[in-house]
This record gives sequence, structure tokens and C-alpha cells, in this order.
Amino acid sequence: MLNKKWTIVDAGFVRGVTAPDELPPPALAEVAFAGRSNVGKSSLLNALLGRTNLVRTGRAPGTTRQLNVFTAKAADGLELLLVDLPGYGYAAVPKAMKREWQDFLWDYVTTRSTLIGLVVVVDARHGLKSLDEDLLSGFLPSGRPVLILATKSDKLNVAERRAAAAGIRRRIDLRFGEQATAVAVQAFSASSRAGVEAADAELDGWLPRA
Ligand code: GDP
Repeated sequence: MLNKKWTIVDAGFVRGVTAPDELPPPALAEVAFAGRSNVGKSSLLNALLGRTNLVRTGRAPGTTRQLNVFTAKAADGLELLLVDLPGYGYAAVPKAMKREWQDFLWDYVTTRSTLIGLVVVVDARHGLKSLDEDLLSGFLPSGRPVLILATKSDKLNVAERRAAAAGIRRRIDLRFGEQATAVAVQAFSASSRAGVEAADAELDGWLPRA
């Protein structure tokens, strides 16, 4: 049976962060969401939060260079932070700017002490890209869990959806060996809400509870 504790009863925007010293003090547990620009990350966050537009969707690719922090309260009263990382891989961004924001992202995922797990959003039709794998290679040595959500799966039929998730799984196992056991893969759709409950159940298992 699926664990329902994760169900978010309240969520709100805390702040946009453009430099490490603007991050909230490391107190509450954090779950970060990463993915390539325009992959569907904002829509996915709204679907998980049960809100229509708390996280602004449809922004021009590459315009979000800040890390957006949201607070979320689970049904059992547990408070946590959800951190929407800037989308990466947008080609039209000048190189220097790209490097600066990728350094910031990298520092955050590799050193943030309160980060309990990472959600990597990929397009179900395209699977893992090299930047996704780079990010995973920085995060997996921490031993913390990762959930890969293959979104826009409504654009695939059932067989294709299954093949997409299996292909990502194979790639992860091949590339990351033993560290791959910390990674779960799930097909998702913000449009049809397919995969929302399974993602909730996975994330619930990450939460620190007495
Ligand atoms: P972000 O840049 O990664 O935050 O992506 P957005 O959430 O803004 O979505 C980018 C585009 O993909 C928008 O046009 C969305 O309507 C569309 N989109 C997002 N999620 C889904 C989905 O699950 N299914 C489909 N068909 N389209 C989606």
C-alpha cells in the first residue's frame, strides 16, 4: 500500500537564491529537483505539490538562473524545503554565465548538508543526457537517494513508456555500478498525473522521522 504521509497540505515560495550565502540556514531537510531547461520540471513540481501554478511554468528556456526554495508541510506536520534548481543545458546562454551557474549548482548538490535526496527530471522520450549523468556522478558518492522521473510520458504509449524507464534503468546500472542501488526510476506525467502517487511514496521514504 502506498504511504500517504508525504501528501503536501501546505506549500509556499520562500525565496529565489542566486548566491550560496543567500541559501536558508541549513535546518530543515531539503529535496532538490534538477533537470535540463524546458524538461517539464516546474509542471512536475506543481503536480507533486498539488498546486496549479506555485512554480511558474513555461518560462523561456534558460531564463531561470536562480535556485527557487519552497516550503512544504506534509500531512503529519513535518516541514521540509523543496529546492527547484536552475535548468541546465540551454545552449544559447553565454559560456561564462553557464559556467558560473553550473558551478553554483554543483557546489549546492555536492556540499549542502541538509539535502536528503535529489530528484532528476528527464524527458521520457529522450532519456538521460550527459549533463544529467554528470550531475548524478557528483551526487551519488554522498550515498543519498535519487529519484529519476521520466516526465511527459503521456506522449508515449504504454510499451514505449515501459521501454523508456527500462532504458534509463539499464544506463544507470551500467554507468554507476554499486551506486546505482540508490537510484529509483519512475515514469511520470504532469498532464495526466501518472506516477504522482509512486513518486510521493518514494519521496516519503526519504523523510527524516523519529
Ligand atoms: P521547465 O522549464 O523544466 O520548468 O518546464 P515547464 O514545466 O515550464 O514545461 C515546459 C513545457 O512542457 C510546457 O510547455 C509544458 O506545458 C510542457 N509539459 C510539462 N510537463 C508536461 C507533461 O507531463 N506532459 C506534456 N505533454 N507536456 C508537459
